[in-house]
Amino acid sequence: MTSTFGFNFSDTYSKLPKEFVKKSDLYPFTNPQHQIFNSSLALQLGLDEKAIRESKYIFANGSNLPQGASAIAQAYCGHQFGHFVKLGDGRALLLGEHVTPDQKRYDIQLKGSGPTEFSRGGDGFAALGPMLREYLISESIHALGIPTTRSLSVISTGQPVFRETTLKGAMLTRVAESHIRVGTFQYASINGTDHVRELAEYTIQRHFADLNNQEKKFEALLLRIIDLQSQLIAQWMSVGFIHGVMNTDNMSICGETIDYGPCAFMNHYKQDTVFSSIDRNGRYAYGNQPMIAHWNLTRFAESLLILFDEDIDIAKEKALSILSLFKEKYSHHWLNLMAKKIGIENSSRVDETFINEFLTLLEKHEADFTNSFRNLNNPHQLKRSLTDDDVFVQWNKKRINLIGKENIHNSQKLMDSINPCVIPRNHLVEQSLDDANNGNLETFYELVQVIQHPYSMPENQKYLEPPSLEYEQSYRTFCGT
Ligand code: AMP
Ligand code: MG
Repeated sequence: MTSTFGFNFSDTYSKLPKEFVKKSDLYPFTNPQHQIFNSSLALQLGLDEKAIRESKYIFANGSNLPQGASAIAQAYCGHQFGHFVKLGDGRALLLGEHVTPDQKRYDIQLKGSGPTEFSRGGDGFAALGPMLREYLISESIHALGIPTTRSLSVISTGQPVFRETTLKGAMLTRVAESHIRVGTFQYASINGTDHVRELAEYTIQRHFADLNNQEKKFEALLLRIIDLQSQLIAQWMSVGFIHGVMNTDNMSICGETIDYGPCAFMNHYKQDTVFSSIDRNGRYAYGNQPMIAHWNLTRFAESLLILFDEDIDIAKEKALSILSLFKEKYSHHWLNLMAKKIGIENSSRVDETFINEFLTLLEKHEADFTNSFRNLNNPHQLKRSLTDDDVFVQWNKKRINLIGKENIHNSQKLMDSINPCVIPRNHLVEQSLDDANNGNLETFYELVQVIQHPYSMPENQKYLEPPSLEYEQSYRTFCGT
């Protein structure tokens, strides 16, 4: 007799044409061990945490999956660093769509669950460090109020994985509004118009039902995704988040941050910061993210063209005119956030130049992005060379004038609500993962606790301090594949 564990699975994705899904099997891990479980997320999803824990790792073995679950690998394509590739879930499986007691639908996906038809040369497994990293950073992004997939649990599998060295294997349970990617549309597009139409209809039905009544609903779909992505990237930029691998297969249609590989938060402000070891040309550098989002959205539009008009030239014209709105939308969201970060509620009172003047000063003085915004009203806590710079003194005077003396109190409140004190600092993330790999998860658990309250002062000052500039400049992240 199988149990539900509180899951209420319903499967709509598998009703798409058979090319979109491949039934698969979980690898039968024999010695799974608990690493971390997200109790508050489980509660929010209506899951039975006690039953899940008592069953000893229901996700680790195909024979004790929750009732109603299946295991499917999703097909997709992607432009990876600009090159088009056929991909698919090579080390992940969708268990199904869980419908919560309040009728919200979430994909429950296992990452690191063993080889599938799409594994290409890979082994289908994942290592403990990268899975804990995804758990930590995705939960941090969530706590910062930015749309993201969530992490329900990480287990170690008891099975070693072989990379440059032998590592502990692990599996993450990921929760997402869906796993439909720009790359899923690119995949549909190589399979023909009917597939694109079915996927687009499905996406509208599942995520954007309000578009159903629109006469030109596929164009409206493109516009909606542009809206969501422009907002998402502006939010990343406002907290110094660098995704690191913005391939089209890692861009979610519903506007969630997805696929935490070589991502990291920037400490010292620098537009061209790149941490990913495989991003040799800086394609996905901090400052390039809006431009890359536009590039990816253009690939999305290309896959939809066939639904816009039978005449390809008319279809292209329509797509281009919608795509041209990205810049304006992004700038709007960015300015709105950045104005608030400097204490100005009404973004029409400042312009991009004014914000950029401050960012240029941060770069010049190699100042910490997070702390410089958080402490803007406490100059003694800012970097000395910055406060000694006459250009900054003049800029800050202007800023305070713009706020107006009578609004200082509210402005401070606004800044405290939008400027985090805590981000997952690279050196602390690495330390916690090193400890976890050595069997001690205490540092990791503590960091997870602290990043869940990014706007509150932590007791321990170490969470506020950036690493040294030398550390930051030589820091490299890895995909962990
Ligand atoms: P990612 O860099 O995580 O976005 O992965 C890109 C593609 O490579 C996806 O199709 C993954 O499923 C696949 N992939 C990554 N790592 C592995 C692995 N260890 N085994 C099989 N496929 C993998
Ligand atoms: Mg991916």
